[in-house]
Amino acid sequence: MISRRKLLKRLGTLPLIGGVMGSGIPLSGAMANEAMAAPKRDLVKELGMRSFINAAGTYTAMTASLMPKEVMEAINFSSDHYIMLDEVQDKVGEKIAAICHAEAATVTAGCWSAMVLGTAGVLTGKDREKIRQLPNLEGMKSEVIVQKSHNVGYVHAITNTGVSVVEVETAADVDRAVNDKTAMLWFLNYQAPAGKITHEEWVALGKKHKIPTMIDMAADVPPVENLWKYNDMGFDLVCVSGGKAIRGPQSAGILMGRKDLIEAARLSAPPRGGTIGRGMKVNKEEILGMYVALDEYVKKDHAKEWKEWEDKVAYVAAEVEKISGVSTEVSVPPIANHTPYLKISWDPAIIQLTRQQMQEKLRMGQPSIEVISGGDHAISMTVFMLRPKEEKIVAKRIAEELQIAKV
Ligand SMILES: *Cc1c(COP(=O)(O)O)cnc(C)c1O
Repeated sequence: MISRRKLLKRLGTLPLIGGVMGSGIPLSGAMANEAMAAPKRDLVKELGMRSFINAAGTYTAMTASLMPKEVMEAINFSSDHYIMLDEVQDKVGEKIAAICHAEAATVTAGCWSAMVLGTAGVLTGKDREKIRQLPNLEGMKSEVIVQKSHNVGYVHAITNTGVSVVEVETAADVDRAVNDKTAMLWFLNYQAPAGKITHEEWVALGKKHKIPTMIDMAADVPPVENLWKYNDMGFDLVCVSGGKAIRGPQSAGILMGRKDLIEAARLSAPPRGGTIGRGMKVNKEEILGMYVALDEYVKKDHAKEWKEWEDKVAYVAAEVEKISGVSTEVSVPPIANHTPYLKISWDPAIIQLTRQQMQEKLRMGQPSIEVISGGDHAISMTVFMLRPKEEKIVAKRIAEELQIAKV
């Protein structure tokens, strides 16, 4: 597997193609929003945008995931009703907290904003003056302890509040680093294997020093149990993305954990203004959409879904391996986007095609398809964001391009 950061970097350099192609993809099937099955306005066509089959994964740049019909029903329903914003947050928060074994929860504008608001809550408590004052930390704590291997781009969500990051490697480092300016201990779940301090030790260090712990597990369902695992373990704040595998609104996420901290975090979020979080607005539509997405996600048959993913990956592998010079490999990242990935490699002596050329051909084809890099002469793909039967189209298109490039 290539590193997440490299992957994001490569995605960032993708050329943007628009204009010439219509959507080319029928908006039907279980993964499509049924309200759009016969659209009055095909905005993809109307605005000359490119729509595509997502065999890449839940990338923000690709608009991540599609919302199931139950979620769209919640959004459409609530779009026709006024409800007080705090009341929606109160009621949905109680439900989410119960599902995830947390004391309290609130819907945020993504995992990133959950981290900003959660950190703000830790720093300010319910002190209105401090809430107005952020990110000026005068009179507040100002340091967050992070393991060196966890100190990647996502910490910017934390430092948004004005705090600085203090790097540590061992538990003894934490004991030394803690001082009266220490506000929080932050843990990046997907980097757990790279760090010397485990989840349990991190939580214990927080309890020992009476400092709140926060975990970023944005993309880390499946498995579904992760939604309560870190609350059960004793993290004070848990941050999750709503619009990745849970398939809620892409502009939603969840902050959950200790009641006093959630209440404090909400004081920096809308409807209250003059706060660091005023721009991180979620309305009733996202909040209720998030709730229904989570509810549906938790209730679904995960073993069955996993089997379907394996079958789809096996199908694509079998189709492309019919071509000589092609080999495949299935892998599952242990944490984050924990779903089957298929790496398709080809021998450049037999098939003259670079990885970039292959991605471009798939992108420019009809229908357009997005996959990710698997190396110099390899692509990698997932199936968990595919709509029904799209694996057939993906297999056919990849096989076609491999066949054409044979010398
Ligand atoms: C996606 C992601 C985020 C940001 O989450 P949003 O829901 O897009 O705000 C934060 N941390 C990690 C590790 C992520 O993968």
